[in-house]
Amino acid sequence: MTTELSEHPLIQHYLTILRDQSTATADFRRASSGITRVLVMESAKLLEVEPLSVQTPLETTDGAQIVLPVVFVPILRAGLGMLDVAMEIVPNSTVGYIGLERDESTAVANCYYSKVPNMKEAKHVFLLDPMLATGGSAEQSIQRLKKLGAQRITMVCIISSPEGVQYLRDAHPDVDIITGVIDRELDENKYIRPGLGDFGDRLFGT
Ligand code: URA
Repeated sequence: MTTELSEHPLIQHYLTILRDQSTATADFRRASSGITRVLVMESAKLLEVEPLSVQTPLETTDGAQIVLPVVFVPILRAGLGMLDVAMEIVPNSTVGYIGLERDESTAVANCYYSKVPNMKEAKHVFLLDPMLATGGSAEQSIQRLKKLGAQRITMVCIISSPEGVQYLRDAHPDVDIITGVIDRELDENKYIRPGLGDFGDRLFGT
C-alpha cells in the first residue's frame, strides 16, 4: 500500500517551506520536524495494539497498549532529521541505523555502517528516509533488514519520485510506503523534481 498525504494542509504548508531555496537552516529543521510529525502519526495507525485493563480512580476499564518492539531505522544521514520526532511519538521505541552514501557519479548507494536491534523480535520496523529518489537506498536497506529477520516494514518519506515508488513496489510489495508527496520525476542526476535539492545538505547546513 502506498499512502500519499499531499492533500493534508500541514503537509502542503511544511513542504512549501522545505522546497523554498531561501529557507534558512533553522526553519528547514523546524519544517522537517513538523512534516515528520504528520507522517509518523499517519504511520502509527499501522501499529498493532493489545488489550489491557486499566484501573481509573473510579473503576476498571478496557485499555490498549502498543505491541513492542517498534523500531525506527533512519538511513544516514538525511534520515536523522526524522528521528527525534519519531522517538517522541513512540517513546518506548528502539532505534537502528543504516549508513548509505550515494556515489554522485553513479547515484548507487554503498553501505558503510549498519547497527540495528534484533530484527527477528521486531514487531514493526519503520525505515526513515526523507527522499525516496531512485529507491536504491531504500531497497538495499529493506533487503538488509529482511535478511536480519524483519517481518513488517514501513517506509516513511517526505518526498518520493514516481520511479522510486514503482521500484520499491516491485521489489518489496509487502512494504507499505507513507509519503508526503510523490513529485513529478527524477532528473538525469537522480534528483527529485521539483524536489527540494539535497535534503542532508539543507538539514545540516553543508
Ligand atoms: N536525495 C536528496 O537529498 N534529494 C534528491 O532530490 C534526491 C535524493
